[in-house]
Amino acid sequence: MEALCRDCGSRPDAVLKACPACGSSRVVRHRELHGLAIAHLDCDAFYAAVEKRDRPELRDRPVIVGGHHRGVVAACCYLARASGVHSAMPMFKALEACPEAVVVRPDMKKYTAVGREVRAMMLELTPLVEPLSIDEAFMDLSGTESLHCASPAATLAALARRVETELAITLSIGLSTNKFLAKIASDLDKPRGFAVNGHDARAPARDVAAFPP
Ligand SMILES: [Mg+2]
Repeated sequence: MEALCRDCGSRPDAVLKACPACGSSRVVRHRELHGLAIAHLDCDAFYAAVEKRDRPELRDRPVIVGGHHRGVVAACCYLARASGVHSAMPMFKALEACPEAVVVRPDMKKYTAVGREVRAMMLELTPLVEPLSIDEAFMDLSGTESLHCASPAATLAALARRVETELAITLSIGLSTNKFLAKIASDLDKPRGFAVNGHDARAPARDVAAFPP
């Protein structure tokens, strides 16, 4: 079993519950972890996350990004999701489900700019970045191990840390053998996720789940 601490980048013994180097429980484990190179990266609740970042008073409030009463939900934070709100829901229904939500009008110019910053960081690691939308992209890190002195998994975890530190938003990573399975994986462990779909479909994608913090 291979392991990686997503917080400090070390490779702890896979049987240990927490990272011996930094104490973090955010250790991802998978027997193919360091051999896989195709990733799908998806920012978590992207529009809502950018709004929360820029308006700290919203941090602990359910936030819905979208048009007011006649519109639909363009994005919502995880607090709003816990009340049953989801993207593309009519706004009046969303506010029925979560009346205390703060509705923020979308600022696409701002989201595009942040999306470009994330993209630029990806492109520093490989030219093989295939954007799917403003906040998600595939990355092929095949052959980059000697360049970055790190496995693709470790490079991706470092990228997630950099995005968090420099842009104050989070993303989720799916790592696999191909784009289709990588995209499925990125959705399995959101938010701040890291899930692996290896060649062996019987291996769980979220080995970390076997060791709850
Ligand atoms: Mg997203």
